[in-house]
Amino acid sequence: MIENNKYSELFNKQKANQFHIGNTSSKQRIDKLNKLKKALEVTYKQDIREALFKDFKKPQLETDLTEIYPVIDEINFVKQNLKSWLKREQVGTPLAMLGSTSYIVNEPKGVCLIISPWNYPINLTFGPLVSAIAAGNTVILKPSEMTPNTSKVMARMVANLFDENDIALVEGEVETSQELLKLPFNHIFFTGSPAVGKIVMKAASEHLTSVTLELGGKSPTIIDDSAHLEKAVQKIIFGKFTNAGQTCIAPDYVLINETIKDEFITRFKNQIIKDYSENASDSESYCRIVNKKHFKRLVDALEDAKSKGAVVDSGGNFNESDTYMEPTLVSNLTEDCTLMKEEIFGPILPIKTYKTLNEAVDYINSNEKPLALYIYSKNKKQTNFVINNTRAGGTCVNHNLLQYLNHNLPFGGSNNSGIGKSHGHFGFLEFTNQRSLLKQHTIGAVDLLKPPYNNWKQKMVDLTIKWF
Ligand code: NAD
Repeated sequence: MIENNKYSELFNKQKANQFHIGNTSSKQRIDKLNKLKKALEVTYKQDIREALFKDFKKPQLETDLTEIYPVIDEINFVKQNLKSWLKREQVGTPLAMLGSTSYIVNEPKGVCLIISPWNYPINLTFGPLVSAIAAGNTVILKPSEMTPNTSKVMARMVANLFDENDIALVEGEVETSQELLKLPFNHIFFTGSPAVGKIVMKAASEHLTSVTLELGGKSPTIIDDSAHLEKAVQKIIFGKFTNAGQTCIAPDYVLINETIKDEFITRFKNQIIKDYSENASDSESYCRIVNKKHFKRLVDALEDAKSKGAVVDSGGNFNESDTYMEPTLVSNLTEDCTLMKEEIFGPILPIKTYKTLNEAVDYINSNEKPLALYIYSKNKKQTNFVINNTRAGGTCVNHNLLQYLNHNLPFGGSNNSGIGKSHGHFGFLEFTNQRSLLKQHTIGAVDLLKPPYNNWKQKMVDLTIKWF
């Protein structure tokens, strides 16, 4: 029994319930997922849209496309596959162990904690929950305090849909997260910044709790001299300014062949007007920075770059009362400015030129491994050169963000951008312990080799090493 923690009672109740939940059938788990699906699709859809609009003026279409749809799609994918994922898988047994049969049993990890960020609060709280339910775990959810209206809707949903001994949502600030992190969870699934990821991993190490860390960082976009520039600009603007750049896999900065930089800037300016009008603050397709703290962080980073000689090629306006920041393109940046050192997580796009692809690749490799790396190119050889000579959590060629939406692909980072993978079968496995099971039916060869050892047994071992 865990005591003396604000959440020990809830934790203990879930722990006591874990075998009941872990022994549920695929049908029972799918019933739970269907309840969540209906809540997202029908019962709470309008509440979610309104809450996200209150939190940071997120346009309704973006809420439907980037918050509701991915979770529903994840649920549908799980529903199609869960039965086969839960099957005991028979695997081969070496001849030396003749008389035995071997299996992999996918058992739930147990009591899990999911801590989520504010930038896609519905998607990044309920997405991992879908995988945790599929795997048969009990779950405590802790969403971000920075989108309070959305957290409140999620709290109502969870309380109405589920028994808290099975799935519970705890609202609260950083202290809440820290209190929860003291508990001996069987798995922690964290989505957030690399800095907090380190705090989570340290806390998890106290109990040797396994972790999935879905983190962030700077995701580069390479545009080579063969790229279809018009399309590249359109797609980069979509990827960067959806959610006003507050997306973990948004293109953080552009690395462009120096011969096409000016054309990129001209096309960028024209496309921004087409997508968001002359004044993006009037556009109903453009959201706001989540709060004053993040707004100030972005303004400071822009001012810092300008003070060091950066040129604002497009945009650059902002308005504190509305936490509005215009879609902004900046060039001529020095390496010591915040925009080139830290994840931007906002609507500012730095553009940096290169002469050779080698130079571009070296620059990427001199930084932390990115969560996403994007390449715009029509040249297969150059595309493969970049893929083969860099490391990244995921890559999309001639587009961005789309790698996130295919549940057949693992989603996650590498080292600084994350540990472990989510989505589809990868998400299910993250919340699962692959338990090995070997059943012996008859006396096996190994049993003949127990002490006392003698020459005959030594010969048997020699033969085994040589032939089996
Ligand atoms: P964050 O790390 O500040 O917060 C995430 C969660 O951790 C919140 O619930 C918060 O309450 C909690 N938290 C914050 N400080 C804590 C502390 N000291 N101890 C314990 N818990 C703490 O991240 P954020 O600002 O909400 O989100 C932005 C970051 O998340 C960016 O770096 C972004 O790239 C990353 N992100 C990654 C993904 C992904 O899937 N890889 C998705 C979205 C966002």
